[in-house]
Amino acid sequence: MTKRLVLASNNVKKAAEMAALLGPLGIEVVPQSAFGVPEAEEPHATFVENALAKARHAAAHTGLPAVADDSGLCVAALGGEPGVRSARFAGEPKSDARNNALLLERMAGLTDRRAFFYSAVALVRSPTDPRPLIADGEWHGEILEAPRGEQGFGYDPLFWLPELEQTAAELEARLKNTLSHRGAAMRHLLDRLARDPL
Ligand code: IMP
Repeated sequence: MTKRLVLASNNVKKAAEMAALLGPLGIEVVPQSAFGVPEAEEPHATFVENALAKARHAAAHTGLPAVADDSGLCVAALGGEPGVRSARFAGEPKSDARNNALLLERMAGLTDRRAFFYSAVALVRSPTDPRPLIADGEWHGEILEAPRGEQGFGYDPLFWLPELEQTAAELEARLKNTLSHRGAAMRHLLDRLARDPL
């Protein structure tokens, strides 16, 4: 029997990545927008707290189990910035183009280009679930000096993978899911889910 899980994200591309990861498990992922769930606050200093807040918010509005990812880019030479502020690095309204431009501006002249993406995922069976499933993942690379590639979203065009000699925005979607922070976090979550089904 197909189980339904609400995806607490309004980011269409992120939602597609997560649906591709959960689909093979017989889990139908329904974006929270299908239920008219408003965007949750993300007030916390850690990814995991924000992921949990988003998942609880979606479960409370829909009465269904919900999963959320909170993710971002952490740049070594910027002391971990933009971090939890990645989506709104360049302010409101959220804009990938302005975020990427600001990142390049902040990194002008810096030789240490190391960075990693981080994803925390949280799954709750109900808004008051005392035992949420939580997992995380990282993806290490470097920040280029100019964007390359058209796929993916966010900082993908600036995220260089030296071993592949490609940016994340040049990777085919399935390969990105195999390698990415979100893919890793979701695989850990799915291991937990296999032991402790919905
Ligand atoms: P969230 O939706 O509040 O978790 O914000 C995540 C933000 O981090 C996105 O808006 C992107 O700026 C960035 N981000 C997270 N994951 C990725 C990714 O896979 N590629 C590129 N940028 C990402």
